[in-house]
Amino acid sequence: MTYWRDCVDRMNGYTPGEQPRDHRIVKLNTNENPYPPCPGVSQALAEFDVNALRRYPDPSALELRREAARLFGLTEQHVLCGNGSDDLLTIGTRTFIDQGQRLAFTDPSYSLYPVLAQIQDAIPVTVPLTDSFDLPDTLATATQGCGMLFLARPNAPTGNSFDRNTLQRFCKRFPGIVWIDEAYADFADDHCVDLVPAHPNVVVSRTVSKSYSLAGIRLGLAFAAPPLVAQMMKVKDSYNVNMLTQQIALAALRDQDHVRRTVKQIRRTRAAVADALAQLGFHVLPSQANFLCVEPPLPATHFLEQLRQRSILVRHFPGPRTGSYVRVTIGTDREMDSFVAAARDIVACEC
Ligand SMILES: *Cc1c(COP(=O)(O)O)cnc(C)c1O
Repeated sequence: MTYWRDCVDRMNGYTPGEQPRDHRIVKLNTNENPYPPCPGVSQALAEFDVNALRRYPDPSALELRREAARLFGLTEQHVLCGNGSDDLLTIGTRTFIDQGQRLAFTDPSYSLYPVLAQIQDAIPVTVPLTDSFDLPDTLATATQGCGMLFLARPNAPTGNSFDRNTLQRFCKRFPGIVWIDEAYADFADDHCVDLVPAHPNVVVSRTVSKSYSLAGIRLGLAFAAPPLVAQMMKVKDSYNVNMLTQQIALAALRDQDHVRRTVKQIRRTRAAVADALAQLGFHVLPSQANFLCVEPPLPATHFLEQLRQRSILVRHFPGPRTGSYVRVTIGTDREMDSFVAAARDIVACEC
């Protein structure tokens, strides 16, 4: 007899990327934004009335939902806020998936999905992507009997996107929920929020952690048909988004120009780094995100260790599909210059 559930005993838990204390480290391991949040965020903090903290925050974050809805021509009934989009993924799993029910996700993909399935005591169903990390033609049959499919678009940790028309056709046929995790969509050429009004089974989630430079405040947004949002509202913690986060995020959503500018810069840097690495003999996967997934011309773990010795952190995902790659967050041009110089150095030592 144990005190804990068997499904919890069996699982490993999610491993977050390392957060080093030393600020001299070039930190390219958790896809944070290298640029500061918009000026409105500092102003919202400076003007915040500390006395207001005596009270509970708005349980439904109404003002924030209205602002988010406005960005996409939706209503507040289409929007749910979470304590980061990880919280939304948890709420979705608890709302839509029973114990013993099937929950699908692709391989590779965001490593939180299988953990959520395990916590729920659901049956994880892995859909292998093709050799070029695309959706397989067999997606519909592979997800048969599943209550939900988690799909990151652009995908993590590969950075590529999936064809929108293929995905839309799948959404129309699939009898369960299609949860499109758009954590990186602001860095991509297109997105899927516009699928929400016409599809009663589609949820699209966003986060301010990456494109808005606000990973520290924890805010995620889910867009879905009002009946889906209403059910998820019942499942979430009443006060899942704190008062400070609601105020700060509101200021951030109101400055779309700032996001556009930093995203443009990151996309420019991404293209330059991709070129430089390809010239050094790296295999560079096409990226629509704020990171590059690259295969070095030496063992990935060796490359990672050599970078670490030069105080540069990137992320490695062991396993047959991703083990030969490293994922490199796009930082400032200066940070990426150090990274490319280090990579050049390491590759030269190898031959
Ligand atoms: C970063 C990330 C998240 C988590 O976002 P938070 O809002 O910080 O919880 C969710 N999904 C994917 C694919 C991510 O890369």
